[in-house]
Amino acid sequence: MSQKQTHEFQTEVSQLLDLMIHSLYSNKEIFLRELVSNASDAIDKLKFESLSNDSLIETKEEPFIQIDIDKDAGTISIKDNGIGMTHDEIMENIGTIANSGTKKYLESLDKNQTQDSNLIGQFGVGFYSAFIVANTVTLLSRKAGDKKKNGTKWVSKGKGNYSIEAIELKDYGTTIILDVKKAENEFLDNYRLGGIVSKYSDHITVPIKMIKVSEEANINEYETINQANAFWMQDKKELVQFDYDDFYKSLTYDFDGPLTQIHNRVEGKLEYTSLLFIPKKAPFDMWEPKRKSGVKLYAKRVFIMEGNEELLPQYLRFIKGIIDTADLSLNVSREILQGSKVVDTIKKASVKRILSELDKMSKNKPEDYATFWKEFGMVIKEGVVEDFANKDKISNLLRFTSTSADSSDQTISLQDYIGRMKEGQKNIYYVTADTYAAAKGSPHLEIFKQKDIEVLLLSDRVDEWLVANFGDFQEFSLKSIAKGNLEDLDSKEDKKKKEKTVKDFEGVITKAQEILSNQVKEVKVSSRLSESPSCLVADENELGGNMERIMKSLGQDIPDTKPILEINPDHPLVIKLKTKVDENLVKVLFDQAVLSEGGQIKEPAEFVKRMNKLMLG
Ligand code: ADP
Ligand code: MG
Repeated sequence: MSQKQTHEFQTEVSQLLDLMIHSLYSNKEIFLRELVSNASDAIDKLKFESLSNDSLIETKEEPFIQIDIDKDAGTISIKDNGIGMTHDEIMENIGTIANSGTKKYLESLDKNQTQDSNLIGQFGVGFYSAFIVANTVTLLSRKAGDKKKNGTKWVSKGKGNYSIEAIELKDYGTTIILDVKKAENEFLDNYRLGGIVSKYSDHITVPIKMIKVSEEANINEYETINQANAFWMQDKKELVQFDYDDFYKSLTYDFDGPLTQIHNRVEGKLEYTSLLFIPKKAPFDMWEPKRKSGVKLYAKRVFIMEGNEELLPQYLRFIKGIIDTADLSLNVSREILQGSKVVDTIKKASVKRILSELDKMSKNKPEDYATFWKEFGMVIKEGVVEDFANKDKISNLLRFTSTSADSSDQTISLQDYIGRMKEGQKNIYYVTADTYAAAKGSPHLEIFKQKDIEVLLLSDRVDEWLVANFGDFQEFSLKSIAKGNLEDLDSKEDKKKKEKTVKDFEGVITKAQEILSNQVKEVKVSSRLSESPSCLVADENELGGNMERIMKSLGQDIPDTKPILEINPDHPLVIKLKTKVDENLVKVLFDQAVLSEGGQIKEPAEFVKRMNKLMLG
């Protein structure tokens, strides 16, 4: 057997170790994730290579990873029965950095950047993280299938050099022994290590064993502390809904199963598996600002992090599930995820899949879609603005209620609406109010009822924001029936008739404008009304009453804009004005218009007085 030799680390490795030890102090526990992941890789490798090389198979032993703590010695050891390494392989894999990209990157680091622990995320060099918690790391390894049992012992204190010597090893595979630093004593604890394993390595497919901590002394029984099952890696042909429900419940702590799931394995340029669930119910915290999405990111079955906007856009924040990719290193940081092409590609593909699944559901399972829309419709509406690239797809998913339905249930798509448009109709008409009842009772609807034109009734809070940012749907634009003029509804005869009416009312208009000069911008003869005597209208590019009220309730400063008062020339109260423009009556017409759009009148007591006066004649 050869003698013990001492070798210098490659310069880059020394540099890297320095980085590890001095910068990675905030998240020390990841050392275990890295070592367990290496062990799991080694077991996968043995499984794979022994398919074509029998001589690697020594025993029928099941694969395992075993973690032991020796409190007296102050050590943690991680043992696997994976493929193991020869002397030369250890020299090559540990002690040098093979990846030239990493090398270049390290060379480009200057002293200041070295302080930035995020940079470590760039390297696929997990083994060295052992030195975050250990003074000395010992690695014992023997290649599987080596009949001579030629093993190797590698030891390093992480500073400049390591020693390597040949030893005989009974077992194939690798054992890593960490001589834990005094200051990191907390890791010499079964519960602490068990917790780290369930956090990061629960779905590693190899059983991870630890001694059972027991009241009775002298019990030496190992138990598997991880689930040892990556549900999402199973073939979907072999899974039934019951299996998905079960996994979903364990993932989310939801009592109920999901509405549906999207399970995909992608192989090609990128390799990843995604299993995404659409829940039946909205989470209680869906409206918390910056709520985390429920998608977990894994790299080869090892948990990396809870996803955020990096994995799915905000408007899909109710989706739960996992994305597992072979194309990310374990050390990837949030900052790096944000700029990662891999993540971006996965995100785009996932969004596409989710939207098309929803589209399918809306067509094939209308009841499920109704449930979905009730719970998540308000969030989906955000997507129209947030995800411009998918605007058309999202627009097709939107559901509303309208004057053609008799319920507040939102079941009408824009496509449905367009199918019912009148010939020559260029706009999709809508009215907004803060309740369904107020929208449905809006005086602005009168002319539309008369002409039998459908109007969307919008009363969700996000609706004002949605319509303000929506733009067009196909060749149609969205138009508020409470803003601007509605001239395109008038026939030629209507227009002629209106010109005459306007002349008739010239005197009334001038006087009414004087009386209301503090409250309104203008008084106009209306062509919207058939039953109500009056209503308020905003200019095309103004916020409108409902939006102003929402913004005020959010504590926002809004510019003071005055509405336009429209009066109905066919209404007896308005006709009465032609004989005498009574100040009291004009003010009542204005207050009524405010009330009927769900607003508050400034001086309610005055309004009551005026009404009483009117009633007494
Ligand atoms: P990575 O896992 O990204 O390759 P690491 O620094 O974690 O980087 O490990 C470096 C290399 O050392 C691995 O690629 C592997 O070849 C070898 N190695 C580490 N741990 C083991 C182990 N337990 N069994 C066999 N080989 C190992
Ligand atoms: Mg590794």
